[in-house]
Amino acid sequence: MAHASGYACCADAVGAHRCNLWTRIDRHWHGRARTVFGRAIRSRFIKSNAIEVGEEQLPDVYYTARICCERLGIQEPIAVYVLQENLWNAFAAKLASRRVVVLLSGALDSILLKGDMNQVTWLIGHEIGHHAAGHFDFLAKFLEIGAWLPWIYLWYSRRRELTCDRIGLYCCGSVEGALLAISNLTVGAQLATAVNVDQAIAQWHRHSHELYVTYRTLYTLNTRRNCGEWKK
Ligand SMILES: [Zn+2]
Repeated sequence: MAHASGYACCADAVGAHRCNLWTRIDRHWHGRARTVFGRAIRSRFIKSNAIEVGEEQLPDVYYTARICCERLGIQEPIAVYVLQENLWNAFAAKLASRRVVVLLSGALDSILLKGDMNQVTWLIGHEIGHHAAGHFDFLAKFLEIGAWLPWIYLWYSRRRELTCDRIGLYCCGSVEGALLAISNLTVGAQLATAVNVDQAIAQWHRHSHELYVTYRTLYTLNTRRNCGEWKK
């Protein structure tokens, strides 16, 4: 989700954890979310606590990101970092005019447990997709005025996540890889390949009209965790 604080996140259910991560950073450095100072501190946190990938640093991840950028026709450099955090998540951000993607080790570890680079490509493609789709551009920031209307804002956020999931699919070029990544996010690496996607979709249809499922869906940033996305 492109946020007032200038970042976008992929995983709905771990959104709260993501906020906790940022909250911890903010509290530690006394930087608040919507301040230039806060963003500068966050940028510094990433630079000093995460590993930036390059030709000679985690080259597999670096070249995967480059392939995604080339497929999406992105000319502007995007710095890609890997940060230790035991969450299945990643996020994109624009910090001090610098475009970045941060991959949390919880997601990479889970994916690489099976060595599936298709899933890595989907994950990186999703996050770079936030940049490619202009989620940090002026118009998108302008639309964040909708944050005053939270239901519309959350609906808009879910649409952005779906857009980036499709961009991730475009980057990895494999429906199976994209579905495996979502399965991995949902049940973990060991069981991901065993998930019956048709049954998961049927599960969604069984419950999607229940009051509290509908309500829960209304205020999520995306619908991935409850399979709502798989039916798209
Ligand atoms: Zn996202």
